[in-house]
Amino acid sequence: MHLTGTIVGLTLFIISIVTHYIGRFAPSPTGVLHAGSLAAALASFVDARAHDGRWLIRIEDVDTTRCKAEYARSILETLDRLHMTSDGPVIAQTDRLDRYREVFVALLKKGFVYGCSCSRLSIQKTIQEHHLAPHRYPGTCREGTTEPIRAWRFKTQDRSIAFDDRWYGHYEQNVYQEVGDFVIKRADGLFAYQLAVIVDDHDSGINHIVRGADLIDNTPRQIAIHEALGWQCPSYMHIPLVLNDRGDKLSKQAGARALSDDLLAELESAWQHLGFAPLGADTMDAFYTRAVALWKERFQ
Ligand code: GLU
Repeated sequence: MHLTGTIVGLTLFIISIVTHYIGRFAPSPTGVLHAGSLAAALASFVDARAHDGRWLIRIEDVDTTRCKAEYARSILETLDRLHMTSDGPVIAQTDRLDRYREVFVALLKKGFVYGCSCSRLSIQKTIQEHHLAPHRYPGTCREGTTEPIRAWRFKTQDRSIAFDDRWYGHYEQNVYQEVGDFVIKRADGLFAYQLAVIVDDHDSGINHIVRGADLIDNTPRQIAIHEALGWQCPSYMHIPLVLNDRGDKLSKQAGARALSDDLLAELESAWQHLGFAPLGADTMDAFYTRAVALWKERFQ
């Protein structure tokens, strides 16, 4: 009995040493890979290599109203040409709906979720009539509703949630005050990104997240769900967004251009966007070797 416990403990210890770092790149296939998503892919890939960690690719297609299989194919094909290969099977969120349902029910049973009958319009009306904060759910259904349920919301607590971002430093937000109870299952029946992302990261053992800064204000919401489930939170690094000439976030929806065929040049631009001098590498392998060494100096 004692010996078995020791062996199990030792095995877990060895596994944790061998796989101490697991990171990921999790693109939504709403368009092809562009300069903005390349910067996120590169930062997460190089960070994983700099930690001798594993790097996984996940296709975040949970929002089937916006995602297309042809974009998923194109993104995976481009990552392949960039020599960024997943150290494990590529998972797709649309294959994991049963698992999201299971976690959703667990949250419901723990009292962290409630049904909401508000429409976008009725929320706007309440906010205007009572002069409330414009972007916060006012909590109308928090204590129950007799109307038909449309969406399901996570019940936030009035407290500050803080984390140390590896790029931006201390970040904190009182989700209850600033966002209010947020949707984890949408009125159209789809699970929301906020739920899917934490279930996927948890199940894949992701302990280091490197992604675009547009998501930094989503992170406290995701930490709140992690904590509600008693799951350990990963560490976070949010990297500066690539902006277009007008200073807007480069996005697939805003028609960001596809990468050129000269992928080495595209990698060099993404690298400079991350605040480094050009590497002038002749091959991709030379590029990554130098990038990993410099990244280690800066971020370890
Ligand atoms: N799927 C998100 C995107 O493509 C990224 C989500 C994440 O990294 O957590 O912007």
